[in-house]
Amino acid sequence: MMKSTLIDLKSDNYNEEISGFLSRLLASGLVGSLLVPKKNTGGDNYVQALIKDPAMLADTDVTVPVMPVQSARIIANLAVREPGEVIGVVVKPCEVRAIVELVKFQQIIRSAIMIIAVDCLGTYEPKVYSAMVKAGHHPAADLRQKAAAGSFAPLDGYAFRSACDICEFPAPNPEVVDVVIGLWGVDTAKQLCLAVRDELADAFAAKDILAINGQEAPTRQECIDQLAKARTANRDVVLGEFGQRIGSLKGMQELLSTCIRCHNCMINCPICYCRECVFRSPTFEHTPDQYLSWAERKGAMRMPANTLMFHTTRLNHMVTSCIGCGLCDTACPSDIPVMSLFRTVGMRAQQAIEYLPGRSYDEPAPVTTYKEDELQDESGAR
Ligand code: SF4
Ligand code: SF4
Ligand code: SF4
Repeated sequence: MMKSTLIDLKSDNYNEEISGFLSRLLASGLVGSLLVPKKNTGGDNYVQALIKDPAMLADTDVTVPVMPVQSARIIANLAVREPGEVIGVVVKPCEVRAIVELVKFQQIIRSAIMIIAVDCLGTYEPKVYSAMVKAGHHPAADLRQKAAAGSFAPLDGYAFRSACDICEFPAPNPEVVDVVIGLWGVDTAKQLCLAVRDELADAFAAKDILAINGQEAPTRQECIDQLAKARTANRDVVLGEFGQRIGSLKGMQELLSTCIRCHNCMINCPICYCRECVFRSPTFEHTPDQYLSWAERKGAMRMPANTLMFHTTRLNHMVTSCIGCGLCDTACPSDIPVMSLFRTVGMRAQQAIEYLPGRSYDEPAPVTTYKEDELQDESGAR
């Protein structure tokens, strides 16, 4: 359970108020460091920064609509072993869902992090975000203003990442996080909306980190429900059409025909966590005579080789835990809609076994519980 609070801003600067809260949290010792989106050196984008010094919280923005890296990947590096302090991590809903999966895969120690999850207003591709800033726009402020009325719409002339248009989770699941920063239905020009896990709420009050008054933003949940419904309907249309496109071997081959097997989609996927991957091992380093004999046999051979096998193996390994963040799309230099492929296959697999990745720490991940005699009806074995 969580305790909520709705507080009038002391100044007219939302980011300053949130930085103040994070600064008090850091000074309290409840966390030893914070992972927060911070303006980059060039000033036209944001990257996650691991902050120890509260003065460095200047130029941070927890609402920034860009996600160049999936934070769950970073957190797996920070908290795969006991780090010796609690790290506060400011993350979006899809990053929370990836964290839940990585906790189950023993890649993140849950007790080593405090999850501060923020309602997500949608994100732009990093290069789009940079172009917006260079054109003089303020993407985060624009989206916060629209979110107050429950509206999910990019700035005119720009588009959100395709993963965000079909994301059914505009807000984090409060059952798997420690703190929620609410934005939907909240007038952030005037108010701060937070919810804190019961046990933490007492510590926050005792250390003067946050005053908890029990108030909630009255329309937040209604906004979230409406958005989730609209995006679920959009998801079904988009992935339904995509499913038609890749419903055959030829369709898959066409989709992946420009893949250069650079592995970017895998490297940036939070769920592809294996530290030793078969595709980066000698198994796929063939000798010249092997390539030539395959070319001889077939008459011609597509190079680089094994692209279809790479994707089908990855699908096989991790698709039941794909949380639809779309970082694979962002990472692909060939503009292949990798997210649509993984979500189309993933959603069907997840629905068949009634598994929703990121929903709960207690629900075992299917890849760790697979039994040889299951899914016989679905696979046609019976
Ligand atoms: S998929 Fe997009 S909208 Fe959904 S939580 Fe991630 S960044 Fe936000
Ligand atoms: S990122 Fe794109 S080009 Fe690279 S392996 Fe993945 S699908 Fe292929
Ligand atoms: S396959 Fe793509 S959409 Fe799915 S979790 Fe990995 S990066 Fe995110």
